[in-house]
Amino acid sequence: MHSSLPKSIQDLVEYFSRLPGIGPKSATRHVFYLLQSSRYFQEQFGTALLRLSDNIQHCKYCFHFADEDVCSICSNPKREQEKLCIVETSVDILAIEKTNAFRGRYFVLGGVLSPMNGIGPQDIRISSLLQILEKSETEAIQEIILALPSTMEGEATAHYLFQKISNLSDNKKISRIARGIPLGSEIQYADENTLARAFEGRQIF
Ligand SMILES: [Zn+2]
Repeated sequence: MHSSLPKSIQDLVEYFSRLPGIGPKSATRHVFYLLQSSRYFQEQFGTALLRLSDNIQHCKYCFHFADEDVCSICSNPKREQEKLCIVETSVDILAIEKTNAFRGRYFVLGGVLSPMNGIGPQDIRISSLLQILEKSETEAIQEIILALPSTMEGEATAHYLFQKISNLSDNKKISRIARGIPLGSEIQYADENTLARAFEGRQIF
């Protein structure tokens, strides 16, 4: 940190530095940019930030971010009701949407199982997912696609979910995207083509 800088600059640089992928150097650059920008821009920037916690909520069906209680994907009647794609985070939805390879709906787990870090089934949205699937027993969902990271934790979570979902119902197809996604990698970092191929080549669990 540049101690020669006024405290209010140092504070903001500190906040920017906490964002993923931003080191102290680019944090300082961002703050300098804001300093030189108009008062109007600064106000809009600040207001947009505050609106995040005021307006954004989790969709009551899939837990993706939403302006209202149902997100734009779940409220879209054109999405295929019979396919449900399970992802770790909302960012993964953005990556998959970019590929145009999937027109079904999603469910955001909010994490993956990681016994090493003390994250068990009760810490992610497994029971909410099972509730949805239980309710859809006689309804729409026919295929569940696991699009979890190809890390050890992602694999363990996929196996756990496979067991749980199979116990719940034996007439639902459970598939997983795998081919093309490099081992040990996160969905959100895969390029669009690779991810689209991974969807097309999804395999029955
Ligand atoms: Zn939703």
